Amino acid sequence: MTASPVLEVLDARKSYGEREALKGVSLTIGRGEILALLGPNGAGKTTLVRAICGRLALASGSVRVSGADPRASLEARRRLGLVPQEIALYPELTARENLEIFGRLAGVERRALGAKVDEALEWTALEDRAHERIDRLSGGMKRRLNLAAGALHDPELLLLDEPTVGVDPGARELIHDLLERLCRRGLAILITTHDLDQAAELADRIAILSDGRKCAEGSLQELVAASFGGHREVWLTLTNPPTASGRELLTGAGLTAASDEPLSWSGPLAGGLESLAELGSRLAAAGLPVAELRVREPGLRGVFFHFTGRELGLS
Ligand code: ATP
Repeated sequence: MTASPVLEVLDARKSYGEREALKGVSLTIGRGEILALLGPNGAGKTTLVRAICGRLALASGSVRVSGADPRASLEARRRLGLVPQEIALYPELTARENLEIFGRLAGVERRALGAKVDEALEWTALEDRAHERIDRLSGGMKRRLNLAAGALHDPELLLLDEPTVGVDPGARELIHDLLERLCRRGLAILITTHDLDQAAELADRIAILSDGRKCAEGSLQELVAASFGGHREVWLTLTNPPTASGRELLTGAGLTAASDEPLSWSGPLAGGLESLAELGSRLAAAGLPVAELRVREPGLRGVFFHFTGRELGLS
């Protein structure tokens, strides 16, 4: 990362009435870096992204985009590109007309607009659909255009909310490819997603929010090491909720329960595979029948569970 980050959020705090949505979140993203922002529902992701766009005033803390405050400076807002989750295109206008409108709204000069739109149609592979109405394009094409509309004015920071929700795997790959190309051009990219595979695939760094706080941040490898310390992950589902002594046994074995699902437990398999049979027989002896027991190389699912106590995108 370069010395001066494109995005710098410092100790962001925000409450809605009594509810504290952000309890002091700090975050930086450098040029050419993709950061995935993860968190359970209600963790504060949307609030943070709205604050970054300058659409919401923080109670305290600061947001800087290349050194300027997007709430105070139009210049800083123009350095931002926002790609919302819902398709924000005019359905009765053509692909080209939409890009022209979004370009103008984002401040692209009229004489530069034609070339910018041509370039965007080319890199989204939609040149042959340029004169087609949006409502005649496929879902994946609309998503690519939605992305192009947010990036047309060459922002320094691109914010994406669930960029591939509801698209098929082929269209998802195309969008990933576009994001990687934007990143190579030097954009700083923030992706909010519930798709852990997407975060693992694309992100240089991952930040996890939980209950208004950043509870983890790092590369996937760093987060896996912090959560599992080089061990494999054991994941089990009980048939019935455990008794107090059963819970004691499970926590004693280094496992944690999912906060929203008392039957699911997970943790590092500290004793290696040899310890698995022993764990199984201790659980059986304690009257804790196991419906499913899995051992796997830990990935982002286990990391997310470790830091938030919740399951997300379990496959
Ligand atoms: P999700 O993954 O469900 O979209 P999120 O991480 O984006 O969730 P936020 O939408 O930022 O979470 O919400 C954080 C907290 O602030 C939640 O408890 C939510 O109920 C609350 N909240 C969000 N917007 C408002 C609002 N306008 N008025 C009152 N409370 C709000």
